[in-house]
Amino acid sequence: MTLNRNILVPSIKTLTCGLLLCLGGSITCAADASAADKAPKLVIVKAVWGILPSGPSFDVTKDVARMVENDSLSVDADNDNFGDPAPGNAGKKLKVDYMLHGVAGSKTVNEFDMISLGPVKKPARKRGPAAPAPMLTSDPKTWQRVPNAVAGPVGGVTLGEHGLFRPAMDKHTAYLLADANLDDMVLRFRQVAGVKNPPGQQRGWEKMFPAHAAQFLIVAGNTFRGTENADLRRRMDDVINALKACRTSDGALPAPYGNGEEGYSFMLLAHGLVAAANAGNPGANDLLAAWAKWYRQRVEQATAGNPRVILQTGQNYFAGTGLMLAHFASGGTPEDVLAAYKHVHPEWMGLLSARDLKAIWKMPGGHPHSAYCYGWMGFLDIYRATGDRRLLDAMLGGWELYRGHWQHPGGTLAICESDTYPPDTLHITPIAHTGETCSMVWWAKFNHKLHQLFPADERYVAEIEKVIYNVGLANLRGKSISYHTHLEGRKESPAIDHTCCEVVGAYLYSTLPEYIYSIADDGLYVNLYEPSSIAWRKADRTLRLTMSSQFPLRPEVALRFSVEEPVSMKLRVRTPVWATAEMPIAVNGKQVAVGKPGSYVVLDRTWSNGDRVEFTLPMDFRVTLYRGADQVPGHKRYCILYGPVLMAAVGPLGKEVPLPDFGGKKNHTYLVRIAHDPARPREWLNPKADQPLSLDIKGQTTPYLKPYWQVEAKESFTCLPVIEPGGQK
Ligand SMILES: [Zn+2]
Repeated sequence: MTLNRNILVPSIKTLTCGLLLCLGGSITCAADASAADKAPKLVIVKAVWGILPSGPSFDVTKDVARMVENDSLSVDADNDNFGDPAPGNAGKKLKVDYMLHGVAGSKTVNEFDMISLGPVKKPARKRGPAAPAPMLTSDPKTWQRVPNAVAGPVGGVTLGEHGLFRPAMDKHTAYLLADANLDDMVLRFRQVAGVKNPPGQQRGWEKMFPAHAAQFLIVAGNTFRGTENADLRRRMDDVINALKACRTSDGALPAPYGNGEEGYSFMLLAHGLVAAANAGNPGANDLLAAWAKWYRQRVEQATAGNPRVILQTGQNYFAGTGLMLAHFASGGTPEDVLAAYKHVHPEWMGLLSARDLKAIWKMPGGHPHSAYCYGWMGFLDIYRATGDRRLLDAMLGGWELYRGHWQHPGGTLAICESDTYPPDTLHITPIAHTGETCSMVWWAKFNHKLHQLFPADERYVAEIEKVIYNVGLANLRGKSISYHTHLEGRKESPAIDHTCCEVVGAYLYSTLPEYIYSIADDGLYVNLYEPSSIAWRKADRTLRLTMSSQFPLRPEVALRFSVEEPVSMKLRVRTPVWATAEMPIAVNGKQVAVGKPGSYVVLDRTWSNGDRVEFTLPMDFRVTLYRGADQVPGHKRYCILYGPVLMAAVGPLGKEVPLPDFGGKKNHTYLVRIAHDPARPREWLNPKADQPLSLDIKGQTTPYLKPYWQVEAKESFTCLPVIEPGGQK
């Protein structure tokens, strides 16, 4: 189901020049009479569905425009057509502004009534509202915790000096410290606590979405898993002490709020406090419990009237994730879980479980967004705390929907708030605002949670890997983090503004070591191939494994055991889904197993000091056809990957190709051509000397290929070149 973006544009061309100006003034008027005769008589100018004029609503202009047939419209005002912008609220209306035979008009109807325009197609139907689905909850007496099968190591991983993760972490920490002033970070907390004229400044997004303190705590706390830094530790402790001073007399910690989307700030504060607690700060867990106490009080007040409107709309369902973090921390309570349930929208879970595409692009209860996973992590945690399969089924459904219909081959997610993204539209142009960094960071975290529940399913690690190499490393640039992951044109300039992508990006950069390995009761999983070592405890002994590699620049990987005496355990080695062949694995020089792509090989044996495991990843170029909406007419576009690494075609952008307007703005893409057979990339790619993964294209001076993460600010590029044999080069 792909939106035909041409529906609106030919209609608009026939309007008067006066109206054209108000639509942007950029479309030429069709002046000749014959064109006017063929012109559609009914044009949808604007359609809005929700609590009008100023309550929660969806812009459904494109949806209504698509329902026009032969200049006739008959549309029911209901959630089935447009999703539910205000669950539990009976006052929704549909308002349609239109032009009919050149005359402007407007109609508004109540929910379950119909708007008919032009020749009537079908009779109006009357029906009452469907009974709302009951709230999701469960009885604590029935709860059965679901343990994770493996754990990401929260310590014991040392990154290699010559890998990619270490410099990324160092660069990110430097960015954080350059801008972390204690008074600025706790200003909003002091204001909420009633401190008169506290010092400090609010900057950037901090005014709307206070999360600077959370960002600092997330990075500082997680950094201490791998390295100690006295200055950073002192500053982390200072933030915790300053927050302690903001508690109320009854021991609760009020958090800054007031933008209507508080779930974002509340969830991030919980993440920051968990990170500080894991780093050994003695007061952080108490503060988390104090925060949860205060937030539960707010939930009770807010839900006294109608629970659905307050907690399940907008992005407030994110806060359920914060409550579940508090629940699993020391001092967590069953009340945290019961309050978290109140953030779960029952109809939404039903759509997700049913793998209904509307669950993503017309989600009930809020605006469709690339950042669902902020809240989904909490929903998975409710499952872990209670064994409630309804939540697990919904989350697995959500994973399939996102993965199947809103993701580019390189891993970026092609959806965002504030516009409409039907399934498989996969927009790539910068104006479409796809590929938001924070959303992919949470996608990685969400996949890590699924991996810890289902470690034999290799797909979850494959998703994390894409995010790290094609988003995380790609967007840590200059002195900050890019907000969008542009797939053509120029990379987006990063700013220091405490945006969602900076704050949440902090989570990925500070936790990179925990994705490389996973620890199970019976052994170890090797997930990624970053040079590193891990030390972990098994049966009162410390085991150590060291991984040597230059991944992804080179495919060879070697693992070496350091054990004081022989130990029996299972070493599980991932053969990635992108491997282009089976992968032989050798122990001490002798082949012992062959890994199938998309699985883990289990090496179950007694390991001695110095034992070596070696394999060569079957990495090759994969060229995949682009099926999204931003096509170059008459040509086929492709995405090129090497292993998990997204490649960019760097060079002049060539001919500008107009695309239908996006979000009311002019849009265009570029024709960048590789004049070869897309099925045989090895025949036309020539590695540049001394530059691993930089490749010239046979017979062409431009473009050349390099990993997307290496593209620099001054370079123009596309990740979706046209590839076709022959023709003009
Ligand atoms: Zn963001």
